[in-house]
Amino acid sequence: MKVNFNKITLCGRELEYIKEAISIGRLEGGGKFMKMCEAIIAETASSESALLTTSCTSATDIAAILCDLKDGDEFIVPTYTFVSTVNSFVLRGAKPVFCDIRPDTLNIDETKIESLITPRTKLIVPVHYAGVSCQMDAITAIAKRYGLKVVEDAAQGFCSYYKGKHLGTLGDIGALSFHGTKNVVGGEAGALLVKDPMLCERANFIREKGTNRIRFIRGEIDKYTWVDYGSSFIPGELISAFLAAQLENSKSLTDSRIKAWEYYDKRLEPLEREGFFKRGKIPPDCKGNAHIFFIICKSPSEAQSLRDCAKSQDIAMLSHYAPLHSCPMAKRLGCPDTRLPVAEFAAASMLRLPIYSSITPGEQDAVCKVIEDFFAR
Ligand SMILES: *Cc1c(COP(=O)(O)O)cnc(C)c1O
Repeated sequence: MKVNFNKITLCGRELEYIKEAISIGRLEGGGKFMKMCEAIIAETASSESALLTTSCTSATDIAAILCDLKDGDEFIVPTYTFVSTVNSFVLRGAKPVFCDIRPDTLNIDETKIESLITPRTKLIVPVHYAGVSCQMDAITAIAKRYGLKVVEDAAQGFCSYYKGKHLGTLGDIGALSFHGTKNVVGGEAGALLVKDPMLCERANFIREKGTNRIRFIRGEIDKYTWVDYGSSFIPGELISAFLAAQLENSKSLTDSRIKAWEYYDKRLEPLEREGFFKRGKIPPDCKGNAHIFFIICKSPSEAQSLRDCAKSQDIAMLSHYAPLHSCPMAKRLGCPDTRLPVAEFAAASMLRLPIYSSITPGEQDAVCKVIEDFFAR
């Protein structure tokens, strides 16, 4: 049986909403469907507001502009993440200081942050890997003690919570993704959550090409003008229309994913007890969205063999990030040639299993059989 790694799950009204957007005939951003998306995201996250963006990368770009960084400023970020977490700040002249990760969640190791702080450190950028929260109490306490900002990369964290609070609302600024590979998809889309209302107003200017057009739309001014840095960060209405149909169903999309996650977790528990691998863990206080189910094998070569074995049976199992501190661009930026052993081992030894909202028990059974047979050999 062929099992894909990922598939989008249609909720039913995607085409209807796209047709409606076309018949309204206003395809630029800021229309009915963008407002609908923003209302659902803000309500889900219990956030005062949510700004829809063209991607999580562009939401992080806005966050980086909001941080008023100067050349030579530093930010602390886990090495095990996607490039966008880092690039947005690098583009503003800041230098990444890479932190190792925890072996259980693959999130930033909160106990290793403080020793990386220097007089140039301006912010901490935690990444909620797999939609499982970082230890945000510890991280925000360090940030408060040293006067640092916290920008959360919650790209994978829509419908995930830490102590009942939605990811992306625990720090100063949060960025969400609705990329085609995430749980709730718009194709290419994201959102920005900003706690401080003054900063949120500024985020609106930056998102709208550095203009105060939002104030013109509200009727507060009769002509808008150039007031800030900015770019074109607002998605078109067709993307928003598709996303709105998905967002309306985010609870059921997430619930069915969690069911699939729990299936793997339960079925693979005996193999973990026998010591063949470790499953990713969800710490107490965290409620995940089952974005990723991963296992960490005992060695990189074992992970590679299992991956090849699954591939020969048409079943996709994937590794994930190359730790950023070891990438060519880190060298170019002059980052020190340090070892971050937990991330290096996990990156080489982990595998993600196929998961999506519409995955069937038969598909999951086929995935688990490959793993069971592999370790029974
Ligand atoms: C997907 C992802 C991004 C980028 O999201 P886009 O919406 O594609 O820009 C950033 N960070 C992490 C951790 C991601 O998983």
